[in-house]
Amino acid sequence: MEKLKIGAEGLSLKLNEKQLALFQTYYAELIDWNQRMNLTAITEYDKVQINHFLDSLTVLSVWKPSANNPQPEVIDIGTGAGVPGIPLKIVFPEIRLILMDSTNKKTTFLNHLKQKLRMDDIKVITGRAEEVAHRSPYRERFDLVLARAVAPMATLVELTLPFCKIRGKVIAHKKGDIGQEIDGAKKAIIVLGGKLEELKSIDLPEFSDRRYLVVIDKIASTPEQYPRSSGMPVKKPIM
Ligand code: SAH
Repeated sequence: MEKLKIGAEGLSLKLNEKQLALFQTYYAELIDWNQRMNLTAITEYDKVQINHFLDSLTVLSVWKPSANNPQPEVIDIGTGAGVPGIPLKIVFPEIRLILMDSTNKKTTFLNHLKQKLRMDDIKVITGRAEEVAHRSPYRERFDLVLARAVAPMATLVELTLPFCKIRGKVIAHKKGDIGQEIDGAKKAIIVLGGKLEELKSIDLPEFSDRRYLVVIDKIASTPEQYPRSSGMPVKKPIM
C-alpha cells in the first residue's frame, strides 16, 4: 500500500500500520471476489490504491468529523464495491456508516467484506435510493451523503439530497469537464433544498485527469414527492 500511503500524505493524512493492513485486506477480498462477479474493472494493485482508495479519501480535503459531532452519520449511495464509504471508514472508524446499493451481489460482497475488516457496525442495505429515501429512518437523517460514479449531477442530487439532514452535506466525486453538468443541476439543487457550496478541484500528482468534489449544503427540507419513483430521476431529471 505504498502508493496509497504516499498519496495520502498529499492530503495531510498519515496512514498507520493498522489502516494500511485494512486497505490490504480490502484489496485482497476485492480481487478474490472480482473473479466470480463483476465488482470493478480496475484490478491492478497500484491502480486500485490510487483510483479507488486514494480517490475516495480526497473527501478529507473538504470534510472531517468535527469535535461537536464526533460520530457523524454517513451514507454512501450506489456504493458498488464500497467506495468511497469503506476507505473513509478505515480512516475515521468513529463514523456511523451505511452502504447502500441496488445490486444484491454487490451488497453480498459488502457483507462479507465488513466481517473481514471486523467492522460490524457498518450497515449494508440492498435497495434503490428512490425507495429507501422515503423510509423515515433514512429520510433527512445523515450528516454526510456520499456518491461516486452513480449518475449525472441533476439525477444524483435527487438520489442523495433527500437523505441529508438540514445543515448536512452531499459530497459527490466528479471527473472531467463538469461545468455544463453542474449548470444543468442548479434547478434540481434548489428544488431539493440544497445549495451548491463548493466545487473543490483535487490537485494531487497521482491523478492525471481533472477531478472534483461537488459539495452541496442542505439548507431546506426536501419536498415529500422527491425522490420520484424508480427510474424517474434518470429518465426525467429536474431541469
Ligand atoms: N460508487 C462506486 C460504484 C459506482 S457504479 C464506485 O465509485 O466505484 C454505480 C453503482 O450505483 C452500481 O453499483 C449500481 O448498482 C448503483 N446504483 C445505481 N443507481 C442506483 C439507485 N438508484 N439506487 C441505489 N444504487 C444505485
